Amino acid sequence: MTERFTITTPIYYPNDRLHIGHAYTTVAADAIARFHRLRGEDVFFVTGTDEHGQKIEDRASKVGKTPLAYVDEIVADIRDLWQVLGISHDDFIRTTESRHERVVQEVFRRLEAKGDLYLSQYEGWYCTPCESFWVEGKLVDGNCPTCGGPVARLNEESYFFRLSRYAEPLLAYIESHPDFIQPVSRRNEMIQFIRQGLEDLSVSRTSFRWGIPLPQDPRHIAYVWVDALTNYITACGYLQDPERFSRYWPADVHLVGKEIVRFHAVIWPALLLSLDLPLPKVVYGHGWLLLGEQKMSKSRGNVIDPRKLVQRYGRDAVRYYLLREVPFGADGSYTEDALILRTNVDLANDLGNLLSRTTAMIERFTGGIIPQPGASSLRGQAEETVRRVEERLARLQVSDAVAAVFELVKRANKFIEEEAPWQLHRSGDARLSDVLYDLAESLRITAVLLKPFLLDAPDAIFRQLGLGSAEGATFAAAAWGGLPAGTKVQRGEPIFPRIETEREAEAAAGEAVAAAKAPKVEKAAPAPAAEEPGVITIDEFQRLDLRVGTILEASRVKGADRLLQLKVDLGEQEPRTVVSGIAEYYQPEALAGTQIVLVANLQPAKIRGVVSHGMILAGKTSETLQIVAPREGLPAGTKIK
Ligand SMILES: [Zn+2]
Repeated sequence: MTERFTITTPIYYPNDRLHIGHAYTTVAADAIARFHRLRGEDVFFVTGTDEHGQKIEDRASKVGKTPLAYVDEIVADIRDLWQVLGISHDDFIRTTESRHERVVQEVFRRLEAKGDLYLSQYEGWYCTPCESFWVEGKLVDGNCPTCGGPVARLNEESYFFRLSRYAEPLLAYIESHPDFIQPVSRRNEMIQFIRQGLEDLSVSRTSFRWGIPLPQDPRHIAYVWVDALTNYITACGYLQDPERFSRYWPADVHLVGKEIVRFHAVIWPALLLSLDLPLPKVVYGHGWLLLGEQKMSKSRGNVIDPRKLVQRYGRDAVRYYLLREVPFGADGSYTEDALILRTNVDLANDLGNLLSRTTAMIERFTGGIIPQPGASSLRGQAEETVRRVEERLARLQVSDAVAAVFELVKRANKFIEEEAPWQLHRSGDARLSDVLYDLAESLRITAVLLKPFLLDAPDAIFRQLGLGSAEGATFAAAAWGGLPAGTKVQRGEPIFPRIETEREAEAAAGEAVAAAKAPKVEKAAPAPAAEEPGVITIDEFQRLDLRVGTILEASRVKGADRLLQLKVDLGEQEPRTVVSGIAEYYQPEALAGTQIVLVANLQPAKIRGVVSHGMILAGKTSETLQIVAPREGLPAGTKIK
């Protein structure tokens, strides 16, 4: 029987245009879905929109539209965005559809029949931006624990779901299913959260009308929990198509941002337990993609429209950046510079050049004909790469899977330098054909392995190797030896022309840059590696994300005399935690307000139990140590170049 695989994204709230953060989640889900299709599985990939609620009702009335007319426009825009990014969803669910209304109403009937629904008074604190109620004890300094914003006192009649009843069964489930909540840090958070006990959950409202009325009491409108979370079972055919439902439910993966893990790992499974339905296999909470120097928000006018990026750089470059840049699960920050750098270094230099050099050499040395395979030097690594991609994607390590493919690309480029095929040609060495076959076959396998991530490059690589379209190639085609000798290569344009920016042009004015500056579009040029050992190119330097930060607070790390734990404002949504070995030179209480320079894209590391997100620059002599800082002070988050 064909394996089946169901993956979901959160349903998005159509009150604004979606930005790069939404694209991040959706492109990652798309890559995972495409990988499973590539393996021949029966995949169901669903995304959609969460369209009810007070905010939509208010905004629609402000612009003189009905709520539905208001969301229709935004939803059309979201669908268009997914098309631009090549998202391959099998279903797009809107919570305003009648198929969903039926499910929500039936769910309320079943919760009541189970004794899990009751009418009471809701008293609590409400955070409007988060649309969340909080009991007194959960507030942090009297503010919303999620966003830190002000909350308002509220008192209204509401139906409640007996969430408290499910704390024990949920804990038992989470403990006996170690893969249920991922990554493990989120799992631990959830276990802690549930152990504190769960309060019953308010699941209806009488304060607005834009939503689904409860069948048992139509004065009440279903609140977001039941309305939004049940989209997953509606899309899978619950109560409508039993055959389809048993095929696609339970979902294999709910991919969500870390801020909504709690809804998916606590409320949602409790509702499913009450409905006697199987729980999803994995809830995966990935990190946030923040805007480079500050939080993305519409009021700041700094929201990145992914469509503009696709117009400027192409959909493969944008997808690649999203999938590759940030270790999946961790937080990262978006910058256009980093996108350009990724495109130029990985796609244009490494991959693009490998293709153009290989096809150029095959044209020059073997008349454009792919030679017979012989003794292979790259086969081992190619086979290892296939295994790694499969293994990492099975564990949802999307960025690591992409990185594995590019390790093969790097290896093949290095192989060219080691073997110097032009010399083999000059000396009439018979190994030339082995080397050329190895390179072409590595490229073909790279193209197959890239199919989940990139949409145009695999085809372009296949065409230039003389293999036509990559469309029919399945994961099995990544086995070594699939490239037929005798195929005629079809050299073409560079698949990823190098991007030159104004900033690069400015930087190029500096003399150090002259050597690294590449022609606008490179054809068969070797990757611009630095010429002397120990010398780096401007590209290599620019991979360092150096930023000005302001220390908010500092404290000693228990059991470590030399370490301080710092909270550093980088102009991002949340301050960074950084562990630094400066305790012998600075008193923690004297550090608040001090500016520092942080290596902001250093791989996070756990130091004495504290995860450090970056490294502070300091100069050290035998006598002293001094933190490096801007002379006159700069805004937190300022990039150092
Ligand atoms: Zn809030």
